Amino acid sequence: MVEISLSGSGEGPEGAIPRGYSTSGFLREERPSPLKKLAKSLRGGSPPGCSDSERRTMLHLQRLVGEFFVRLEKLDQVIAAVVAAGRCRHCDGPLHQGNYQRKPRGGLIATAGEAFTRRHSLCCGRRGCRKRALPPSLRFLGRRVYLGAVVVLASVLAQTMATVRAATAASGVPWRTLRRWGSWWREVFPRLPTWAELRAHFAPPPPDEALLPQSLVARLGADLQRSDGTAREPAADDVMVMSARCLAPVTTGSVVEGSRFVKAAVAQMVAG
Ligand SMILES: [Zn+2]
Repeated sequence: MVEISLSGSGEGPEGAIPRGYSTSGFLREERPSPLKKLAKSLRGGSPPGCSDSERRTMLHLQRLVGEFFVRLEKLDQVIAAVVAAGRCRHCDGPLHQGNYQRKPRGGLIATAGEAFTRRHSLCCGRRGCRKRALPPSLRFLGRRVYLGAVVVLASVLAQTMATVRAATAASGVPWRTLRRWGSWWREVFPRLPTWAELRAHFAPPPPDEALLPQSLVARLGADLQRSDGTAREPAADDVMVMSARCLAPVTTGSVVEGSRFVKAAVAQMVAG
């Protein structure tokens, strides 16, 4: 079982850089950290010194199972159908199916997701254009070989666990990759239009940019719980579906106002 602290308890005032977190390096080398007990939890069960409030802030997460990816695949299909109903952005020509296969990696977190290989894709049917329109995807985050959910969860592990080695052991993602993703979350993602659009959707204050993606996942969990109207912890896969919806527009420049587009497509599916 993997436990991830969603709200980062024991991290001091909201917005502060938590102890055990370095702004210069996504992952710290081995040092004492209050978050270290989270690493222990990865070896099974709740951390021994875990308070009730901390327990409440933890997301109990089994491995992401096939059912989770079935949900994402369905949403990807709907999004692709909405894009296909439109026209080529470049020449207004008709869009044809041009799906292709990918070989996604799930690491230790999402092995089940490796079976979902179809990347929805469309191709302009007009001669002389033939440009590809790549619909936003909840499963694939850009061209990364790892599934989007792995990029998020392994990055959260990298933020919450005490050592590089522990995060790599828990996620199955090489530490160099984790570091690269860390730089992306810190330096690239906050500057993307997707983030600008996304952060505006949150009631202020938005998730702390310096602590992405943990701050985003924590906030989505808290918002889900609030909208649910109960004290119940939201299901981990519901939080991860929300996160995938939020991040889907990163994947492609084929649609304008990606966040609004994905939201509308998902709403259409729920209504239908
Ligand atoms: Zn075209």
